[in-house]
Amino acid sequence: MKRLRIAIDGPGGAGKSTIARRVAEALGIAYLDTGAMYRAAGLAAARHGLKAEEVSKIEALLETLDLAVVFDENGQDICLDGERLGDQIRTPEASRWASDISRLPACRHMMVALQRRLAAGQDLVLDGRDIGSYVLPDAEIKIYLDASLEERARRRLKQERERDPAATVESVARDLAWRDRQDSERELAPLVCTPAHHRIDSTGNSVDETTATVLAWIYSQFPELIADRTKAVDQDGG
Ligand code: C5P
Repeated sequence: MKRLRIAIDGPGGAGKSTIARRVAEALGIAYLDTGAMYRAAGLAAARHGLKAEEVSKIEALLETLDLAVVFDENGQDICLDGERLGDQIRTPEASRWASDISRLPACRHMMVALQRRLAAGQDLVLDGRDIGSYVLPDAEIKIYLDASLEERARRRLKQERERDPAATVESVARDLAWRDRQDSERELAPLVCTPAHHRIDSTGNSVDETTATVLAWIYSQFPELIADRTKAVDQDGG
């Protein structure tokens, strides 16, 4: 049976994780949130009291990190030096640290190697910035999920307010715009919509609508992949 690796790239707050999880569920395959891996590395650097400019110290720290991706009934979690991180990686500080640390070649090489290892052993939906352009350039399906900055900020604000009641659309938009710029302008594996990506703009659409658009595109473009899977499920009696 042919491999099925689905890359969902795009800027922060575009809904990649939510949509990627739904698509993986619909297709009965696993989902990997690659941003969580950079967030975990950033959290480790913050816990060691490092600053983003202290590159050699960060590189030394990365070499000692024991970072693993754990899949369970609730989805994915990151285990750092034996500790399950859960939502600790979801703060605005962790977002900024993730973007800072992800610019370092040593960090990217470490994460990309782990992502490729995970994708080698199973069919997978991965969301990130560089999945279709760098991590898995031969992925069968590449989607670039986008939305206007204002809408992305509005969506993020809901989560943000739970932690920081003073957050505003403007403050969230500023953080997102800073991260977009840094992620797009970095030298190694920047955020990019390549000609091979199918761009979907989710502005104004609900999660259900965007999931349906993504799945409809996958089914229409790759019916043989889906037929393979349906057959396998039938043979398994599933
Ligand atoms: O997707 P998420 O917002 O969790 O990603 C956090 C940060 O991790 C991004 O802003 C980006 O700097 C980095 N990242 C990356 N490559 C990926 C996924 C995330 O550089 N594949």
